[in-house]
Amino acid sequence: QRGNATGIRNGIVSSGLEDVVVPEIPIVDYVFENIGKWEHLVAAECGVTGRKYTYGQVRTKTKNFGAALRRKFKLEKGDVVAIVLPNVPEFPIVTLGALRAGLICTTVNPIYTPDEVSRQLTDSSAKVIITLNELWPLANAAANLAKKNIPIITINSQVNQATPQGAANFSELADADNDIPATSISSEDLAFLPYSSGTTGLPKGVQLTHANIVTNSVQIDHPEVKFSLTSTPDHQDICNGVLPLFHIYGFTVLCMFQLRIGARLITLPKFTPEYYVGSLKKHKPHMLYVAPPIAIFLSKFPHLTSEDFASVRGIVNGAASLGPLDSQKLIEKIKRDVPILQGYGLTETSPAVSTTRLNDYNKPECIGSIGRPVPNTVVKIVNPDDPAGGALGPNELGELLVKGPQVMKGYFHRPEENEKAFADGWFRTGDMMYYNEQGFLFVKDRLKELIKVKGFQVAPAELEEIIRDFPDVIDAAVIGIPHEAYGECPRAYVVPRPNTKIDVQKLNDYVNSKVANYKQLKGGVNVVESIPKNPSGKILRRQLKLMYEKEKK
Ligand code: AMP
Repeated sequence: QRGNATGIRNGIVSSGLEDVVVPEIPIVDYVFENIGKWEHLVAAECGVTGRKYTYGQVRTKTKNFGAALRRKFKLEKGDVVAIVLPNVPEFPIVTLGALRAGLICTTVNPIYTPDEVSRQLTDSSAKVIITLNELWPLANAAANLAKKNIPIITINSQVNQATPQGAANFSELADADNDIPATSISSEDLAFLPYSSGTTGLPKGVQLTHANIVTNSVQIDHPEVKFSLTSTPDHQDICNGVLPLFHIYGFTVLCMFQLRIGARLITLPKFTPEYYVGSLKKHKPHMLYVAPPIAIFLSKFPHLTSEDFASVRGIVNGAASLGPLDSQKLIEKIKRDVPILQGYGLTETSPAVSTTRLNDYNKPECIGSIGRPVPNTVVKIVNPDDPAGGALGPNELGELLVKGPQVMKGYFHRPEENEKAFADGWFRTGDMMYYNEQGFLFVKDRLKELIKVKGFQVAPAELEEIIRDFPDVIDAAVIGIPHEAYGECPRAYVVPRPNTKIDVQKLNDYVNSKVANYKQLKGGVNVVESIPKNPSGKILRRQLKLMYEKEKK
């Protein structure tokens, strides 16, 4: 699939690099393959409390905890565990423990409301919930809403914290010597079930196998892609871990990949300027993994100077576009030419599809791009109305389609959605892009409904369902509008029942009671007479976006 140096052949764009060889082994074996070199070093440390675990401890607790899930909670190979955790140093132990025992991890955003958590519990058929002591009320409320009487295991995030009544204590399970006979895990077995709305509709379980995650780690570890530094027994790479580990970018690139290469992951349970700046000054990380709002914060925050970045040798941005101007501002703050690399991908692709490379990121033809495909991956641009048609040429705008071993097995229990997600075996990203003559890809727009707020997914269909449930609303549509700090935010168009009036404040209160903060209708609510739709009833979101442009003027 090499093509030529640009990787372009007949409209198919590849990495232009030799393919990488991917070991057919389960995630846990891959992550711990070189552990002998750094067994005594810290693997994960909480940037707030200082709670930490060495690699040796992570491995032992992983074994004990996985065995406890199987023996004490009677889980069987292929069962799903729901992980409702912010970034804590126990995250790798919980996930690797479950994976080693042949279980599947579905990760849930810990700032979700009970409604949102319960939906994922039900859809994924989760059999156990693992969370923090302080999130036990959320987990319990969600389990009740889902009518599930399932065990809840809680982690102490503070010393001397009491385990809630009825919950099982994580440390007791992870510290008690326990093992199970080796579980035969094939690399094609499911490992991870994160949720994504894809191109349309409600959030769906994305089935990622052990092979998907191992492959993507190997792809971003290619010497020319070099998405990270590599630790040696004498020098440990320190990596800041604020991007959510429940999201695929955090799970693969931070949690699994950083442990594979022997880095020390500093976990921050949430982003606050105090936590982030404190961690930067104290831990002096070598690699910063960011999403655009963090990059923008770093360049603007007055209490940070170039000295605070003295240890930083590379920055990787993903999850949403970071414009060249914003990158430039960050460089001006750092006062050094630190490589700022871009990564593009999706939950459905484990996540990395393309990256800018150290050899390329400064070239004029690469500025503003999301780079070139990672090895073993081909992409093409097609007319979105005819995705099975021919591949478009350089500089022609269309939908990006991807083929590669990191592409998901499909959505969980959604045969119809799976039909739509692929065209002739190519995965449809729903992103509008083009590539230039040198094979660099550029994101222009999003064809799919998805809204990204601070890099987090917001599915319009989910908000529309809630709004339609509000008294006197007979129809609703939600679109994303640009937001200076968040990238985008949701805006609703609502149609009242004839001769009624909608109390917008009450509608907002209702929505806010049902969804996490970042999904709130911060782009406003507009009461309209009708929602533009095509003859088959599909909302014409482009038209609403144009309407919004006019309203702004
Ligand atoms: P998620 O599944 O939450 O990772 O969201 C995937 C979507 O995020 C992609 O389809 C893009 O629309 C967007 N995205 C991810 N990375 C980038 C990037 N580097 N630049 C622009 N958009 C991105």
